[in-house]
Amino acid sequence: MKLYNTASRKIEDFIPSNPNRVKMYTCGPTVYSYAHIGNFTAYIYWDLLVRTLQLKGWSVDRVLNMTDVGHLTSDADEGDDKMEKGAKREGKTVWEVADMYINDFLGHFRALNLVEPTKVCRATDYIVEDLKLVDELEKNGYLYDTTDGLYYDTSKFADYAKFAHLDLEHLKAGARVEFNNEKRNPSDFAVWKWIRDGEDHAMKWKYRGRMGYPGWHLECATIIHEVLGEPIDIHTGGIDHIPVHHTNEIAEMVGAYGSEMARFWLHNNFINVEGEKISKSLGNVFMFPDLEERGFSHLDFKMWVLQGHFQSERNFSFDDLAAAKQRLLNYRNFAALRWQKDATDMSEVRDGMIAHLENNLNSAGALAELDVAMSKNVPDEKFVEFLDKAFGLKLADFTPDIDDELKKKIAERFKAKTAKDYVKADALRDEILKSGISLLDGAEGSTWQYAE
Ligand SMILES: [Zn+2]
Repeated sequence: MKLYNTASRKIEDFIPSNPNRVKMYTCGPTVYSYAHIGNFTAYIYWDLLVRTLQLKGWSVDRVLNMTDVGHLTSDADEGDDKMEKGAKREGKTVWEVADMYINDFLGHFRALNLVEPTKVCRATDYIVEDLKLVDELEKNGYLYDTTDGLYYDTSKFADYAKFAHLDLEHLKAGARVEFNNEKRNPSDFAVWKWIRDGEDHAMKWKYRGRMGYPGWHLECATIIHEVLGEPIDIHTGGIDHIPVHHTNEIAEMVGAYGSEMARFWLHNNFINVEGEKISKSLGNVFMFPDLEERGFSHLDFKMWVLQGHFQSERNFSFDDLAAAKQRLLNYRNFAALRWQKDATDMSEVRDGMIAHLENNLNSAGALAELDVAMSKNVPDEKFVEFLDKAFGLKLADFTPDIDDELKKKIAERFKAKTAKDYVKADALRDEILKSGISLLDGAEGSTWQYAE
């Protein structure tokens, strides 16, 4: 299959090193507040990736991390710690805050019917391993000590600028007043932060006789090294991770273990809401309960996401979400036909759809093909199974066979209508509608579909 690789900046053929174990890592959420719908688009795109890899017959060993320590409000090494800030806001301990938001996140993850990762790793479970990596960096001469923490000297890593095509000279010239004036280069970053005198920080561990905590990037390099083993096949994250977070993850991996981190890097673009960037001040930070209140399910939103591409900036609107909801209902009704009519051979349609998915995850192309084929075909059980495997929209779940009593009623109503007994026919139709079923009349009888 073909994937756009951020590392090479081109579409490349992706072939796993070991088809029985495609090693994949996804940078997960910082668990200090509720994730909004924009955050979840990324996980829906990566779910499509996992499903497409599985359609190829490859098995995916995927790790997702939960950042429960060390992520500051700025992507640089300054600002408040997001977890500590969340704890103060909620009047809870940092550990309680982490538990609460991890549970909430995973609840939505499941409601979206995203394939469960092989392993979900909490950053704080890997502190000992983090420090092993720090020791390695120290031994290899990449670190220097400052009042703020142990910093990575990026001038020691010749390829530091390569991944993000950074212009380091420009960065130097444009450097603002540094928050840490002991830094040797503007791009240097904290691998391990020290707790300063008087600093209130609940999450802390002892290293070299002092209390401190990991810098944000460390957990990803550590978890990949410990759990999957580098180089992994695919590393995913948001495009905002390219210049700082992923660049620094790579620097840590090379500095500590001298190894390549990932063969393929995939980065998702962002969504705007009604033409505006998602921001608290604009009041457009929507969560799933907000969508539910307006009559939209997790899967309606997933449908909307699958209509676009992970590399495109998207605009979310409630009108478009309503259209996606209708589209999902159409797919449910199409899937329900398998109980009612003789199936046609849809293997060619399936192959066409797979070809789109294997072409850099073009789900929009695959779904467009399905739309065209729907009017002329009736799916069999296998085709519906394929659709659910590819997109995880639970079409089969939404289409249980209707019971015999309802079938009898449908036939009875058709008979009444043919006999021009409209009062009886209408009464029966209304009764059937109460079961969530609407009817389409043909010459020979009625077929049914799911009503809105
Ligand atoms: Zn990461």
